[in-house]
Amino acid sequence: MPKEISFDSGKDSRRPVRVGAIGELLVEFVAAQKDTRHLRPADYRGPFPSGAPGIFIDQAARAGAEAIFAGAVGADAFGAVIRERLSSAGVDDRLIRTAEGIPTGSAFVAYNSDGSRDFVFNIAHSAAARLPEAEECVAVLEAFGVDVFHISGSALADPAMRTTALAVCRALAERGAAISLDPNIRKELLGESGYLDALWELMELAAYVLPSDADAEVLFPGETFAAYADRLLSAGKHAVVLKRGEEGCIGVARGGEMVSIPAHRVRMVDPTGAGDCFCATFVTHFAGGRSLSDALAYANAAGALAVGKIGPMEGNSSLGEIQALLEAST
Ligand code: ATP
Ligand code: MG
Repeated sequence: MPKEISFDSGKDSRRPVRVGAIGELLVEFVAAQKDTRHLRPADYRGPFPSGAPGIFIDQAARAGAEAIFAGAVGADAFGAVIRERLSSAGVDDRLIRTAEGIPTGSAFVAYNSDGSRDFVFNIAHSAAARLPEAEECVAVLEAFGVDVFHISGSALADPAMRTTALAVCRALAERGAAISLDPNIRKELLGESGYLDALWELMELAAYVLPSDADAEVLFPGETFAAYADRLLSAGKHAVVLKRGEEGCIGVARGGEMVSIPAHRVRMVDPTGAGDCFCATFVTHFAGGRSLSDALAYANAAGALAVGKIGPMEGNSSLGEIQALLEAST
C-alpha cells in the first residue's frame, strides 16, 4: 500500500518534480530488414542508447523533471554512448557506475511482419546488471529528494538486479516516495521463481500502476479496466493507467472519473520505447500537479512521437514538441 507523499513538493511551483529510476542501461541495435529473427545477416542500425528504465529517465528529464538514475555501464564506447545521452538530457549520474572488466549491456531487436519483435539481450553477464549497492542508492536518492521512483518489470529479469531494485523501492516507499510501476512483463520469465513475486510486491508498494494491454492480460485476466482499477484505487493507489498502443490509453485517479484518450494517428516506424516514454511523461506531469486528463494527454502525445523514429529513445520529446503535437491535433 503506497503511503501518502509526505511532502507536497511535486505540486510546489518553486521546483520541478524529482523523478528517479533504476535498472538496466543498454545499447540497442535495430535490424533494418524484417523477419530475419537474427538468424541471417542483416543491416543493423545502432548503437542507440536504450534499456526500458534508461528510456524512461531520459524522457522524464526532457518532459521537465529533475531526474536521477541508478545503473551501470562498462568502460567502453557503448557506455560512453549511454552516458553522453543521459547527461545531454540533464540526468544526474551520481548513481551510474562504471563496471570494470565487463562490457556495457546490449540488445538486438528484429521486427516481424506480424508486428512481433525478437530480442537478443546481453544483460546478466554485462555491466547492465551490476547496479550500485541498495544502501548507496537509497542514501543518494533520499539526498536528491526523489518524489517519484520508477521501476520497469524489465529490471526484475536478473535475480541480482531484482534484489537490489526491490530493496531500493521498499526503502523509498517507506520514506514516502511514490513508486511508479510499469509491469513490462516478459512472458518467458513467468515460470521463474521470484519474478512474479517481485512484481506483486511492487504492485503492493506502487502509487502509480501503469500496465500495457499485454501486461493487464497476465495480471488481471478476464477483468475489465474499470474493475481492477477500482480495486487498486481502493487499496490506496494514486492512479492506474492502461497503455493501449495504437488504441491510446485509459486512466483513473483516486476520487476521479475514468479518462479515455484515442491515440494520435501517426506513422509508426519503431514501437520500442513508446511505453517507457509514455510512463515518464505521465508521472512527471501527474506528480507535478497536472490533472489526470492533462497528464494523460501529454503522455499519449509523447507515446505517439516515440513510435515515429527508429531507435528506442530517439523519439523521446521535449515539452515543446509534446505541446506542438497537442496543438496541431485540436
Ligand atoms: P513497449 O512496447 O515500449 O513496452 P507498451 O506496450 O508498454 O510499450 P504501448 O501501449 O505500446 O506501451 O505504447 C504506449 C503509448 O504510446 C500508448 O498508450 C499510446 O499513447 C502511444 N502509442 C503507442 N503506439 C502508438 C501508435 N502506433 N500510434 C500512436 N500512439 C501510439
Ligand atoms: Mg507496445
